[in-house]
Amino acid sequence: MIKLVNVSKSFSQFKVIKSVSLTIDKGEVHGIIGASGAGKSTLLRLVNLLELPDQGEVEVNGQKLTNLSSKELRRARKSIGMIFQHFNLLANKTVYENVAVSLELANYPKKERRDRIIECLQFVGLKDLIKQYPAQLSGGQKQRVAIARALANNPQVLLCDEPTSSLDPNISAEILGVLENINKVLGVTIVIVSHEMEVIKSICNRVTVMANGEIYDTVSTEPIGIHHIDKSPSYFVEQLA
Ligand code: ATP
Ligand code: MG
Repeated sequence: MIKLVNVSKSFSQFKVIKSVSLTIDKGEVHGIIGASGAGKSTLLRLVNLLELPDQGEVEVNGQKLTNLSSKELRRARKSIGMIFQHFNLLANKTVYENVAVSLELANYPKKERRDRIIECLQFVGLKDLIKQYPAQLSGGQKQRVAIARALANNPQVLLCDEPTSSLDPNISAEILGVLENINKVLGVTIVIVSHEMEVIKSICNRVTVMANGEIYDTVSTEPIGIHHIDKSPSYFVEQLA
C-alpha cells in the first residue's frame, strides 16, 4: 500500500531523512514514534510528496508518486488524506464549507457534494454543527471536522501527524476511536505519527521507531484498545505533580 525505498531528504546541508525504506500494508494502523526532531513529520509528508525526496522512491496504492507529473500527482493525492496536530481548518469557513473545499479541489461531482459532506460529518458525529465556525468548536470537534474533510474524497490512506497531541486524554481517546472506526469500517490504511507511546499502543498493529532521520526498528504490536487511556481525575493530578 505504502512503499518508501531509500528515501532521503535534506534541508539546506542538514540531512533529516537518511535513506529510509519502509513498507506499510493495506489495512494497517501503523505508528511512527521518536524524539522531537527525529524526522517523523518529514517522513509523513514524504508519503504524499508534500516534501519532495532528494533521492529514493515513494509508492502509494501501486502508483510510483515520484514518477508522476504534477497533474497526475494531484489526482493521486485524492486517495491520501491527512490530518494535523493543530487541525488546520479554514477559520472563515463553516464546518460544512471546510469539508466542501476538499471536494471542490478534487473536482468531486457537484450534484453529489452536499450528500457526501453530510455523510462524512455524520460519520464523525458532527452533523448538527454544520453551520458553526471553527472558533465555536472544541479541540476534539475541530479534529473531527478535519477528519471529515480528509475522508471526503474516499481516501485509501489517512496520514495523521500528532492527531491527539493538542487534546486532553479523554478527547484523545474519542479521536482515536474515530480513527479506529475509519480503519475497521472503511478499511482505510492509517499512519499515525505521535510521541505518545500510549496513543501508539492503543490502536497500532505495527510501530516504526525513528531516531536521527533513520528507522531504528519496526515491530508488530497487539493494539490494546483505546479504553486504557486514563480518563480519571488522577491523570490530571499526576500531570500537575
Ligand atoms: P517533532 O516531534 O518535534 O514534531 P519530528 O520528528 O516531526 O519532530 P521533523 O519536523 O520531521 O521532526 O523535523 C526533522 C528535522 O528537520 C528537524 O531538525 C527540523 O528542524 C528540520 N526541518 C523540518 N522541516 C524543515 C524545513 N521546512 N526547513 C528546514 N528544516 C526543517
Ligand atoms: Mg513533527
